[in-house]
Amino acid sequence: MKNQQVDYIVLGGGCSALSLANQIIDNNIDGYSFLILESRKKYTDDKSWCFWLEKDDNLKNLISKSWKSFSFSLKGTIIKHRSNKYYYKYIRSIEFYDKSVKKIKNSTNISLNLGEKVIKIISKKKKYLVCTNKKKYFAKNIIDTRPKQNIYLKHPFLFQSFLGYEIKVNKYKSNFNFAKIMDNMRVKHNNFFFDYILPMGLNKFLIEITSFSKNSISVNTLQSMLNSTIKANNFQNYKVIRKEYGVIPMGFIKENLRTNKKNYFYAGTLGGAVRPSSGYAFLRIQKWAIECANLLKNNKPLTSHQKEKVIIKKLDMLFLKILIKNLNIAPYIFFTFLKRIPTDSFIRFMNGNARNFDYIKIIYSMPKRIFLKTLVFKFEKNEK
Ligand SMILES: Cc1cc2nc3c(=O)[nH]c(=O)nc-3n(C[C@H](O)[C@H](O)[C@H](O)COP(=O)(O)OP(=O)(O)OC[C@H]3O[C@@H](n4cnc5c(N)ncnc54)[C@H](O)[C@@H]3O)c2cc1C
Repeated sequence: MKNQQVDYIVLGGGCSALSLANQIIDNNIDGYSFLILESRKKYTDDKSWCFWLEKDDNLKNLISKSWKSFSFSLKGTIIKHRSNKYYYKYIRSIEFYDKSVKKIKNSTNISLNLGEKVIKIISKKKKYLVCTNKKKYFAKNIIDTRPKQNIYLKHPFLFQSFLGYEIKVNKYKSNFNFAKIMDNMRVKHNNFFFDYILPMGLNKFLIEITSFSKNSISVNTLQSMLNSTIKANNFQNYKVIRKEYGVIPMGFIKENLRTNKKNYFYAGTLGGAVRPSSGYAFLRIQKWAIECANLLKNNKPLTSHQKEKVIIKKLDMLFLKILIKNLNIAPYIFFTFLKRIPTDSFIRFMNGNARNFDYIKIIYSMPKRIFLKTLVFKFEKNEK
């Protein structure tokens, strides 16, 4: 039997692949055939995606919760931010997966094969032969979204490890309705830790412990710390509804790893979608997917995830370097920065769409001595 041939094979069917599929369907693009190959046999509620977005947005039907205010805290002192323009929003992954799968099932030009692990890709003239654990396919183009380790520059690099429980409590005395983004910032064994607590309504909470560290932190270590956090926040008689563990790389992808082939594209985490200074990627993936749909509409070739703006890359690199050199005072660095930075400048910086005056405010908000020391150190190193 002849191998099936399509215009695009998407390797991996996670956030970036499904975001692209959604955009293609929403824009009625039916002139190209797509096959998404995903190794998982079924989607589970494995994560949640949060980000800041303006009040009315095109993800409305996916957002299950949003907060106007958000906070950071160090040793009991709280900094609360509130924006009139942006909300902190929450998407439950299973809703995103289920809605995407339903749309794909009704589409005529996109197929999603679950339980197919891509084993090998062989370049054949201008096409690719993709071999999975089940079948072989030909594609004119590849979009690779399989996250890989060892693709990051060694320096600067940190791991963001986190473990979260979504819990339901019988009763909770101190009701709060804002997102605790970095709560109780602290250092333990030279690693930076903080809690992340989202009130989900109806006595439900997402409560996470997160670390920025030079080595990834195991589930077991995080679990005992999370239990302490749950206790310290007076959550009693709770039931765990969902668990979420992740290790997100905070670093810069080596550029020479990309092939020069014009019909091989990189997206998602593999394409550099994860913001090195924060670990946020969801909105950046949506931006890439929208851009691809626009290109397809105009019969232009697709694109890999876009390279970062130079200023953002430089600031992220500097911020990461400052953190790595000063992990033992990271709570102070974040606290000082978050106390000084105006809310909307912070959000625009996090979203990658800061304006010129936002950059000035960002630089002004950094703890000066540490910031200058890192800059001087960098300058001296370049001089040698
Ligand atoms: C637990 C967690 C929580 C996160 N929360 C946030 C958040 O709140 N906000 C935010 O902005 N970002 C967040 N991120 C970062 C980022 O948004 C996600 O990691 C996002 O899922 C990245 O999308 P992706 O398509 O690159 O990777 P994935 O969604 O992981 O998709 C890659 C897919 O490739 C499949 N795959 C791998 N190898 C193969 C193979 N050989 N053959 C076939 N399939 C394969 C995998 O099974 C997977 O489904 C989070 C990440 C994690 C891990």
